[in-house]
Amino acid sequence: MTTTTTNIKNSKIIKILKKHFPEAKCALNYNNPFELLLATILSAQCTDVQVNKVTPILFKDFPTPHLLMNAPVTKIESIIHSTGFYKNKSKNIIACSRSIVEKFNGEVPSSIAELITLPGVGRKTANVVLSNAFAINEGVVVDTHVKRISKRLELTKNHDEKKIERDLMKLISQNDWGIFSHLLINLGRTFCKSQKPKCDSCPLKSICPSASKCKQVQECKCHAPKSASATLRMVAIAR
Ligand code: SF4
Repeated sequence: MTTTTTNIKNSKIIKILKKHFPEAKCALNYNNPFELLLATILSAQCTDVQVNKVTPILFKDFPTPHLLMNAPVTKIESIIHSTGFYKNKSKNIIACSRSIVEKFNGEVPSSIAELITLPGVGRKTANVVLSNAFAINEGVVVDTHVKRISKRLELTKNHDEKKIERDLMKLISQNDWGIFSHLLINLGRTFCKSQKPKCDSCPLKSICPSASKCKQVQECKCHAPKSASATLRMVAIAR
């Protein structure tokens, strides 16, 4: 374990956010890994609230991969229409179900390597399913909130999701990989919004290197740190 890893693990960022958002968890409703997998696929370009309105009907009519793989595509399209991109999503969840049945004996697999072989499943979806449904932290979920806020906190200077995830995995204790995205999503929805972040009332304002830059800016552009030492500086401040 590197010094940096130890520092960030003990940093105030996660402690403060855990204290501020003690209920932080996955906002999608599900009862098992298969339901979470479907809900996460449907959540692409859609709000969790909207997905949660649709999934009770989908899960009731098609509770297993065996049933969903044989569903008429038009029936699935009509159920999930309001989540957007419904044609692709319908094809993907049907094909995904077939793949689960044919390759994994009807059980959702529990590793990233296996999950990303399923149609419609990328690394982000795989990480969501693993950390929330299986309590396995194999990676860090990098969604739009995590991407934006990680840059503002200068935990990364990359733009590519895979590189951002790699940076975060180096900086954060593996035990916190799962909760980290929920904490940042909560922060992003309440304080660290894309436009007009509320730095004055943000619980991280005293340790965030972007607090003064983002303040009163219509759309924050301060995503990239100016120097490689910025992260270490922030970590030092946070200790
Ligand atoms: S201080 Fe501002 S830029 Fe930093 S995390 Fe909070 S809201 Fe975001």
